[in-house]
Amino acid sequence: MTGIAAVRRLHFCAGHRVVGHEGKCANLHGHNYVTFIHVQAGGGGLDKVGRIVDFGVIKEKVGAWLDEHWDHGFIYWHSDPEVAALYAGPLASMKHFAADWNPTAENMASHLLGVATQLLCADLLVTKVEIWETENCYAYAFGEEP
Ligand SMILES: [Zn+2]
Repeated sequence: MTGIAAVRRLHFCAGHRVVGHEGKCANLHGHNYVTFIHVQAGGGGLDKVGRIVDFGVIKEKVGAWLDEHWDHGFIYWHSDPEVAALYAGPLASMKHFAADWNPTAENMASHLLGVATQLLCADLLVTKVEIWETENCYAYAFGEEP
């Protein structure tokens, strides 16, 4: 099967910790995350300029969501008792994102796939979202292809 996709790279900095991790990722730490948002055209095909979408639209919408919710914040699982207590108490005024999932790259990719699907125009299919924690490690979530 052949097709065309457009991909926008975005980045953000965030802290997290992985509950239940057997090693150092159980500690509070952070990453310079990089995400790749893959989109394909829906039923309408390419626009009259020959694009799936202007790359700037992905940055404007998904980038704005990342800036508001994750960038320079701390992402944690709401069932993480120690961190939840910090953000309910002494760190309440600091930026944080309480998720209903453990903040692994896999779960973050899955969440962001849903967010990007909601934010982008109905004519676009968000087919894949990659979350890179480091240059060597990433996970992705994927949806439907046309
Ligand atoms: Zn990490």
